[in-house]
Amino acid sequence: MPELPEVEQVRRTLSPKLVGQTVSSVRIFNPERIFEVTPVQFRRGIVDSRVKKLSRRGKYLLMQTDNQHTALIGLGMTGRFIVEPDLEPLEYLVVAFSLKRNRIVKLYDMRRFSRISLAETGKIKEHPFLAHLGYEFDDKQLTPSVFCKELQRFRNRNIKGVLLDQSVIAGLGNIYASEVLFGAKLSPEREAHTLNLKECSVLLGTMRKILRKAIEMGGTTIRDFRDADGKNGRYAKELKVYLREGQPCTRCGTSSEIKRIVLGGRSTFYCPRCQK
Ligand SMILES: [Zn+2]
Repeated sequence: MPELPEVEQVRRTLSPKLVGQTVSSVRIFNPERIFEVTPVQFRRGIVDSRVKKLSRRGKYLLMQTDNQHTALIGLGMTGRFIVEPDLEPLEYLVVAFSLKRNRIVKLYDMRRFSRISLAETGKIKEHPFLAHLGYEFDDKQLTPSVFCKELQRFRNRNIKGVLLDQSVIAGLGNIYASEVLFGAKLSPEREAHTLNLKECSVLLGTMRKILRKAIEMGGTTIRDFRDADGKNGRYAKELKVYLREGQPCTRCGTSSEIKRIVLGGRSTFYCPRCQK
């Protein structure tokens, strides 16, 4: 599932193909993936406008137009953008934005968990997709003490689950939550409110370092992820615990194996020896 670094990579590769372009038509092939507005409203909000900016909030892409509308696009599990001159193949096609010079920006989604909506740009923060989202990982307001206070809000919840909670940090998902906790030497089962300021500071710093590196490497491709240039992410070879169950820990040596447990219904990978 694309998490923050993968969505950011899509944004970076899609931006040059989309920003500055006028959308001459919008065709919706799977209206069930449009939320909060009708397909007709969505189409009207975008057609004949010029794309001003493609930004990201959490795991959502925000396509801002010059007619004061913003399309919100969540890629779900397998959403993928392809820019080509023709519409084929139609299977799994969710929406197609036609640009000038015979280019079509197409969103495909095999698993059909993608989510699309539209908002007036001035009211974007209140949109139901975004209203509950917490800090961006690189928000300067998010200092170690602010982060620590955020974690104090949760009683009886493990830190892994809290990292996945989009109301704390927007954009973290299952892969990077496991990786960040390994990097910070914290057990995923630790109750979030028991972290002291030093541990919060290490966790925050580690999260920023890992996400920045993952963005730099174009994200992680486990199975499906491709950016808008059709390329895989290169971060998979950097993964220290995710999907490494039974393999030796890269930090504390061959005598310790990476374990897989299920927390909150999600696979969680960690080293029981060096994560406390
Ligand atoms: Zn270890």
